[in-house]
This record gives sequence, structure tokens and C-alpha cells, in this order.
Amino acid sequence: MASYVAAVDQGTTSTRTMIFDHSGQVVASDQREHEQILPKAGWVEHDAEEIWANTRATAAGALAAADLTTADIAAVGITNQRETTLVWDRKTGKPVYNAIVWQDTRTDRIVNELGAAGGGQERYRDTTGLPLATYFSGPKVKWILDNVEGARQRAEAGDLLFGNMDTWLLWNMTGGVDGGIHVTDPTNASRTLLMDLDTLSWDTDIAADMGIPLSMLPTIRSSSEEYGTVRERGALGGVPIAGILGDQQAATFGQACLSPGEAKNTYGTGNFVLLNTGTDKVMSQNGLLTTVCYKIGSNDTVFALEGAIAVTGSLVQWLRDNLNMISSAAEIEEHARTVEDNGGAYFVPAFSGLFAPYWRSDARGVIAGLTRYVNKGHLARAVLEATAFQTREVIDAMNADSGVPLKTLKVDGGMVVNDLLMQFQADILGVSVIRPKVSETTALGSAYAAGLAVGFWESEDDIRTNWAEDKRWEPSMDEARREREYRNWKKAVTKTFDWVE
Ligand code: ADP
Repeated sequence: MASYVAAVDQGTTSTRTMIFDHSGQVVASDQREHEQILPKAGWVEHDAEEIWANTRATAAGALAAADLTTADIAAVGITNQRETTLVWDRKTGKPVYNAIVWQDTRTDRIVNELGAAGGGQERYRDTTGLPLATYFSGPKVKWILDNVEGARQRAEAGDLLFGNMDTWLLWNMTGGVDGGIHVTDPTNASRTLLMDLDTLSWDTDIAADMGIPLSMLPTIRSSSEEYGTVRERGALGGVPIAGILGDQQAATFGQACLSPGEAKNTYGTGNFVLLNTGTDKVMSQNGLLTTVCYKIGSNDTVFALEGAIAVTGSLVQWLRDNLNMISSAAEIEEHARTVEDNGGAYFVPAFSGLFAPYWRSDARGVIAGLTRYVNKGHLARAVLEATAFQTREVIDAMNADSGVPLKTLKVDGGMVVNDLLMQFQADILGVSVIRPKVSETTALGSAYAAGLAVGFWESEDDIRTNWAEDKRWEPSMDEARREREYRNWKKAVTKTFDWVE
């Protein structure tokens, strides 16, 4: 009897394979970074073949690290960076262009034109739960078909396939050109701007508006069922692939936010707050996204309200890589601890415009409130505080949409090791911030989806039982200071608008 479940976590900066036991503990992990290809300002690409090679390598690496064989693995789940868009040839298996990453803003003009044709930014909100924005996959597919020579003809002839990274990996794992299956799940599909949230099927009118042939689009199945088995010999060969969840939905599942009103915030490249709204599809009046949270087999679809923030951890990376102000991400906390406060400085990292709750593609970053007094420590603080302020804006929007103020926030992701940030987060929100023992909630969530499908776990109660608290931060800032800081932040945000015409 296989005692473990594997998860392939295809993220923005790296791909990893993790192996979990029945109690949800990490048994082994292997990770590889891939190149961030930045051809122009605002453009971000990945080499999809590099990512597929990394996937195979980490699968083999994780098994070897735990001294396991495929016979020990009951199922494998896939979780992935969402929206990142790939088009490839079904006969050769070759991508026609690099994957266009979710942060990429090149579809700005396409998005504006689609809005100008009627309905503006809200044109597809009722159907898809999303505003028109460069973030989502549909306009990225249109860009590839419009700009890669011959792509539109090949697509219309039925030779090209579209997928997010889940679909690309699943297609390759199940055989690629030799019968790979072309499938996605509703959490990924709900991020394309092409899926109808009520029917969980592709909206033919929107696809037509974007000039996307339906033959390119993968079949939408549930988030937890056996899609196929790994065809490759070697690592994971013969193991059923039985779960797919977009990374943020996977983290929500892995954090056991399984009841309406429960929310998590993941602090990675960007931040993503998801609030489980149960089987109710809540339409946001405050700049949030309505998205599929998960669909387990034939159970009813569970929805979420989401606040997506483009730049949080990647601002720390930017300080490291572009300014050389720090030599590692962890060093930011040391600098921030040399001062008491931000010295009046506020850093709004609108590098990809602003996502939730603003959705302003015309915004660009600012550092506001500078005086001669401000030093490196203050700037380090302003960088960390930017993450917490942006989270507060999203939580305020969520409270307004749901009418029920959030009482606690579960957190995960690469930045939650930063104690100063977590304390400031509790202070600026005025609620408790809680970190679980297993912080790899994204991989864990997709492992749960796969394990549920093959009976490795019996029910969602197993997920609740496995979840355990590691650390909790309580708010300690006085109300007057909290609101003053937040007002200053909001003022700084207004300085980012109207930079791009
Ligand atoms: P992703 O899954 O989006 O690739 P991770 O969850 O691995 O991201 O988190 C990585 C991010 O966390 C990076 O952007 C990095 O700058 C940030 N980070 C890592 N360690 C720290 C730290 N100690 N303090 C602040 N930020 C950190």
C-alpha cells in the first residue's frame, strides 16, 4: 500500500516536487529555479520546456531524497502559477512562444480595446467574476495569436493548444505528442477571463471576442479526480494524477479554509488573500475577484473572493537584485530593525500597475514622504510595510463585500518567516495573524486534492485534523497610530496613478 502522496508545485520562480505522508507532513522536497526572461519593461516570460525539464528533475530528486520508489506514491497532484499562458503545437509538442507570465502587462492595449468596445473594465464581470485586466490568460492568448507569425492560422486549423502551466505539465506527463490529455480544472479556468462561473464551461462569446478558437481550449474537469497516469518511465511513472488546483486555491485548501468565512493570505512573489464564500458566488463591489476556490469531484463548486496583489516579496527581490541594497531576502529584517518606524517614507510598488482593489494598469511605483532624515533602515521598513498595507486594503474590501469582518488571518508563503512583517501585519489589521506548522500549504493543498480522489484521505475532515498552529501574532499598535499610518499609505497610493497614458 502506497503511503505517500506527491505534489508538483510549479511556481513563478521555481518548480518543486514535494512528498507528504498521511498526517500532511513533508517527507521530501526537491526544487529548481527557472530563468525570469525580461525582454522589455513590463514583459515577463518563462521557458516552458525548461519548466517541464525541472519538473521531471525535481520528481526524481524528491523520490531519491526520501529513498522512495513510485510504488510508494498513491497519487500526484499539480498546483501552479495561475494565468501564465502557453500555446504549443499538438503534433510537435513545441511551444510557439515563451510562456507569458501573469505579471506581464503587454496586453494593456488589447484589454483597453476590449473594454472600449462596450462595458469597459466590467465587461465580463457578470460571467467570469473578473475585471478586464492584463493579469488574466485570455488576452495573453490573443496577443500570441496576433503576434506570432502563422499562429492564428495554425490555431484555426486545430494544430495549437492553449494551457496554463497545470495543463502543460499534465499534457506532457500523460504522454505529450503520444496521447497527452488536454485538461484543466475550474480554479485555473476561472483565471482565464474565458470561463462562465455558473456553468464551469468556456464562454463561446468571450472566446469569439478575443478571437480564440475553442479547439485550443482544454477540457474543464473537477479539481480532484483521476485525470490519467504518468506515462513516463522513471520518476512517478504509472502514478495516477488526481488533483489540480491553481496555487492560491491550493494554499486555501491546504490551510483548511474549508468553511465560509475562513481566509488565508499567501506572502510570495505577490500576495493573495482568499476568502472561502462556500457555494455562494459573491460578486465584489470593492475591486476583488470572484473565483472558483475548488471543486472536489462531483461535489458542489466552492467559490472564493480574492484580493490579488502583484508585488510584495518581489519588492524584496528587487531591492536585492536591482539595487544591491541587501544580499539576501532575510537581510531586509535586520535593516528594518535598526529603526523604530518608517521615518515618514511609504513605498508603493506598482511595478505591474496596481491589482486589487484598484486595477489600475496606468499606475507605476513611487516612494513618497522622503526627507533627508530617511535612511536605509527606514526604506527597508517601508518595503516590508508595503506588503502589510496592501493586505489591509484587500481585507477592508473583503469585509465590505462580505459584511462580516475577518477575525483572524491564516498566513503562509516565503515572507512569513519575517517576524517584523508579521507583527506589523497584525498591528495594521488589528486582528490575529496565525502561521501553521506546515507552511508549504500550496503543495499540500494539491496533495490533498489528489489524495482525496484516490481514497488516500477519506474526507475534508482529515485536512482539518492535520492542520496545526505554529505561531500567532497579536495586534499591539494603538488605534490612532494604526489609522494615521494607513491614511498616509493611501495618500502615497494616489501618487502612483496616471503614469502611463
Ligand atoms: P513564490 O511561491 O511566489 O515563488 P515564495 O513563497 O517562495 O514565492 O516566497 C518567496 C518570496 O519571499 C520572495 O519574493 C522573497 O523576496 C520573499 N522572502 C523570502 N524570505 C524573506 C524574508 N526573510 N523577509 C522578507 N521577504 C522574504
